[in-house]
Amino acid sequence: MPHVFSVDVEDWYQGIEIPMDQWEGFERRVKASMGDLLDLMARYGVTATCFVLGKVAEEHPDLVRRIHEAGHEIATHGYSHEKVYNLSPERFRRELRHSINLIQDLTGERVCGHRAPYFTITEESLWALDILRDEGILYDSSIHPVFNYRYGIPNADRQPSVIESDDGAQMLEVPVATYPLPDPLPDANIPCGGGAYLRIYPYRVQRWLLRRIEERGEHISVYVHPWEVDPGHPKIDLPFQVSATHYWNLDSTLSKLERLFQDFTFRSYRDVFADELDELAA
Ligand SMILES: [Zn+2]
Repeated sequence: MPHVFSVDVEDWYQGIEIPMDQWEGFERRVKASMGDLLDLMARYGVTATCFVLGKVAEEHPDLVRRIHEAGHEIATHGYSHEKVYNLSPERFRRELRHSINLIQDLTGERVCGHRAPYFTITEESLWALDILRDEGILYDSSIHPVFNYRYGIPNADRQPSVIESDDGAQMLEVPVATYPLPDPLPDANIPCGGGAYLRIYPYRVQRWLLRRIEERGEHISVYVHPWEVDPGHPKIDLPFQVSATHYWNLDSTLSKLERLFQDFTFRSYRDVFADELDELAA
């Protein structure tokens, strides 16, 4: 069964809680690091969904065209990388619309997927789902059924589910991979869908968890950021929790991804959920 692979396309300073108005002076590295990921995916025949940050599309239109020409799906990661629960619904809608237009102008293709910065659709920001559907988004991958200091709805569905608003509009929610602790252990899910967890776990643990999910006949969705394959990016002082997860084991990512691509088959959300998305678009 093909699984889903995705990349949250943002530069290193955009994923560490520095507000957008302070991004000016930082070294731009996303074209090079994303280039390394594109090369690796090409080598293993992986087609992914790339959730591109609007600000990246604005600064690097050539990168968006390159991703598109390589056959990957392009979806949106919002515009400013501000946590959704810190935005007003009006600003969320404005930024979403702007990011979708930027991408669609570059690729000529409809944007149908969304992932929130830091998975920040939580109990506090469920209002965002109605806005996503309203703006033409067919699937979202922002609700993480785990405990985390920045995100998570621990008891949310672990598997893809159709969510419906009061007016009957529907959208597919596809969380990244988690493994449910078996009884009699506590009722909680172990995150194993990529990002910092891919860097923290030894690869053997990562693979064991994904194989257990496969045995359950379930979908797997794994993601990564371009800056996670760029261990040479600048080190700056950050609050401990941010710094510990951001810089941990960066030089392990490429080799772990290589093994992951050898052990599992990955496609984009658009390909894996083609039937469901056709139905939602009809
Ligand atoms: Zn992000």
